[in-house]
Amino acid sequence: MGKRKTALITGGSRGIGREIALYLAQKGMNIVFSYLSNDEAAQKTVEEIEEKGVKALAVKADVGSFEESEKLINKTVEAMGSIDVLVNNAGIIRDNLMLRMKEEEFDEVIRINLKGVFNCIKHASKIMIKQKSGKIINISSIIGLMGNIGQTNYAASKAGIFGITKSAAKELALRGITVNAIAPGFIETEMTSSLSDKHKEAILKAIPLGRIGSSKDVASIVGFLSSEEAGYITGQIICVDGGLAMGSL
Ligand code: NAP
Repeated sequence: MGKRKTALITGGSRGIGREIALYLAQKGMNIVFSYLSNDEAAQKTVEEIEEKGVKALAVKADVGSFEESEKLINKTVEAMGSIDVLVNNAGIIRDNLMLRMKEEEFDEVIRINLKGVFNCIKHASKIMIKQKSGKIINISSIIGLMGNIGQTNYAASKAGIFGITKSAAKELALRGITVNAIAPGFIETEMTSSLSDKHKEAILKAIPLGRIGSSKDVASIVGFLSSEEAGYITGQIICVDGGLAMGSL
């Protein structure tokens, strides 16, 4: 058997990131993930990954900080020897109507969701360029394509990820590195659990496939984009949304 690959997943302790970590571990990759504050969830996820027979490391690091994300990348290489897959998944919401939205609510979402992606790609791509290989997958959202009431900050951050994805894909293509984005629709996680039943029902009506998505729906596409089978795909946005972003008449 060849050397195990290493995947770094930001915000991998809970929700979609956790599912991606477990999916790639199942595929035989060693896993490093970052998280912000919930030590208990991070420790539990480390144990679940290790049960799959691979190495796991959780690093408390704010991706919105340029220095902390650099440390995160360095720790990954120190512990595992390489970074073959980078999944920029960490993200937050601070929803509010634009008229009520505070400057800090806008800035914090942009700092974590958008600058965090820049920070991690900037530091990880140095390692990937030396390796002459790498797969970068950015978790955006269909809200970046469609917009949403109360989410100007979030929509702007997620639309910005498309711009980073395409620019980085062009810059890194000849270095053997692919960069793609996934735009999930409505996925059942803690992030979406606070929505009212009425709101959930309305969303469900707008989804052509007629069901809410699961974290597994997203993780399996990350699995594909991080595999050699996806080697000729770069700069793309893949909606994993049950058809929601197509809109309905
Ligand atoms: P979640 O359940 O709220 O989990 C967020 C994860 O990110 C946690 O591990 C959290 O760690 C970590 N995190 C938060 N801020 C961080 C920071 N500054 N630095 C490092 N880690 C940080 O979120 P989710 O629903 O799984 O969403 C994951 C991604 O998918 C996000 O980018 C989100 O925008 C995107 N997405 C989600 C949906 C959806 O329907 N759920 C739809 C489209 C796109 P702690 O636990 O320590 O705070």
